Amino acid sequence: MRVRFAPSPTGYLHIGGLRTALYNYLLARRHGGAFVLRIEDTDQTRFVEDAEQDILDSLAWAGISYDEGPQVGGAFGPYQQSARSDRYKEVADELIALGKAYVAFDTSEEIDGLKTRLTSPENPNPRYDFTTRSQMTNSITLSSDETASRLARGDEYVVRLLVEPGKDVSFQDAVRGQVSFESNAVDDQVLIKSDGLPTYHLANIVDDHDMQITHVIRGEEWLSSTPKHILLYDALGWTAPQMAHLPLILSPTGGKLSKRNADKEGIPVSVLQYRQKGYEPDALINFLALLGWNPGTGQELMTLEEMVSVFSLDRVGQAGVQFDLQKLAWFNEQYLRSRSPGSIAESVYPLAAERHPGVSLEYLSSAILLMLERLSFASDIVEATYLFQDPDVYEEKSVAKRWKANSGQLLTLYSDKLKSTSAWTTESMEALLKGMVEHEGIGIGELMFPLRMALTGLPSGPDLYAMMVLLGKETVQRRLVKATTTLS
Ligand code: GLU
Repeated sequence: MRVRFAPSPTGYLHIGGLRTALYNYLLARRHGGAFVLRIEDTDQTRFVEDAEQDILDSLAWAGISYDEGPQVGGAFGPYQQSARSDRYKEVADELIALGKAYVAFDTSEEIDGLKTRLTSPENPNPRYDFTTRSQMTNSITLSSDETASRLARGDEYVVRLLVEPGKDVSFQDAVRGQVSFESNAVDDQVLIKSDGLPTYHLANIVDDHDMQITHVIRGEEWLSSTPKHILLYDALGWTAPQMAHLPLILSPTGGKLSKRNADKEGIPVSVLQYRQKGYEPDALINFLALLGWNPGTGQELMTLEEMVSVFSLDRVGQAGVQFDLQKLAWFNEQYLRSRSPGSIAESVYPLAAERHPGVSLEYLSSAILLMLERLSFASDIVEATYLFQDPDVYEEKSVAKRWKANSGQLLTLYSDKLKSTSAWTTESMEALLKGMVEHEGIGIGELMFPLRMALTGLPSGPDLYAMMVLLGKETVQRRLVKATTTLS
């Protein structure tokens, strides 16, 4: 088995692309096959400078390794289509020689003219095909001398596939079963553009053939290209790989998850955005694996190895799957909480040090331990500002409601008791507080609320006693004094 992920560097890798890469990876690993990364960079007009690097970085971040491709090399390289142009030209010439493709000289104005001339209510979308090619300027309508002389004098031309009408183009899709198209619905595809470079269709099938790809696994949006590919394989007498088209990823409000509606719903689209937001790569991968596939056991949390051991294309569904950001957040929390506070601290330290200068790794790690159950993302820790700085403001609404005339005195009394205690543990804080509550004959909230407000500026937060241990005696005392003077 040889599979490939074949992104075009026309933008940053998006989550749909990462899912495609993942399914290819899982299938290859499951069967001991090879996973190839091929960069499809033949479209100069849509080329984005750092997109290829982003694809490599994103795959590395997600833990998806490939056996052949840019940087790692392999026996079927080069793995960038821009370095393989001669081969596409050779195949295009072969198709022309076989009578399966032809040369066309029409300018874009002439093609527009065709469209304007023929568009009618019955024919809303006229195309360059068996019904129109005879009205155009190409090697079918011109004499061979005329064609040769035009080529010799350097006229611009494209190479088009000669699609014969009335044919049934069928293939077996591993996800969708038998798929059939009529060749009448397929236009005479451009194979080589006027800049001499191949189109996606030609380059894609030539490389899949030459790289001995056995399974093509890609998104459903490519399904309509497949008949063109099948026609090309047939024309060349090559065997097409097994096809598998993955279900569409849908937006929560319906329709395909496009960049536009994802933005509207606050769903990040590029893998880079997930990296920047601090998602756990394993969580994103686990979530994406289940976006179109399921192991059949109801198990949700799975390591990459577990997925590899049970992955199969027959458990990939046909129906579009809705992207659920809440579900992803759940996965993220599970993965985050399974990590040690020390390792989370290490990954978030640069950000924490920037936001809270002077913070030590050790302190950060203890703060993470305190907050672990409250974190959805590792970076949430830096938002708990009160763990790093004395509060400047005290939430007005709850102060108005719950800060009483005696709150300041109670805090001062508690503070005095803390001063004289030598033990600085959660147990001693709790014992002191409970002892005082009993002695003063007050409700526990009467002391706990002002204490929490003084320490954090907020009415709720992590375990109070553990937080006091983390903050340390000096900080706690200082904050009690500050709140008492500010609020009383
Ligand atoms: N270059 C295409 C893309 O950007 C590849 C589609 C395919 O896998 O054939 O996704």
